[in-house]
Amino acid sequence: MMGLFASGKHSQSICDRCGMAYPYLSIKEEWNGSRVCPECFETKHPQLDPPKVTADAEALRDAAPDRTEPAVDSTAYDNFFNGLP
Ligand SMILES: [Zn+2]
Repeated sequence: MMGLFASGKHSQSICDRCGMAYPYLSIKEEWNGSRVCPECFETKHPQLDPPKVTADAEALRDAAPDRTEPAVDSTAYDNFFNGLP
C-alpha cells in the first residue's frame, strides 16, 4: 500500500539548530518541536518541568485542644435567695 509521504531515504534535511544538511532519516524531533541532527539532539532537561507543590497538612483529625475556663459570674452570689434558711 502506498503511503501519503515518500520515505525520504534519498533526501536531505536542514537541522533547525546548526543549519547543516543531514540525511532526512537521521533528523530527530526534540520535545520542543525542533527537528535537529543527531549531534544537536538533546533530551528535555528535568528542571524544565516545575516540581509538584502541595500544602503541608496542618489540621488534626479528632483534635481536642485545651480551653479557657469562663470567668465566674459574681451575680450568682448576690441575689434574692442568699441568706434564706
Ligand atoms: Zn545540528
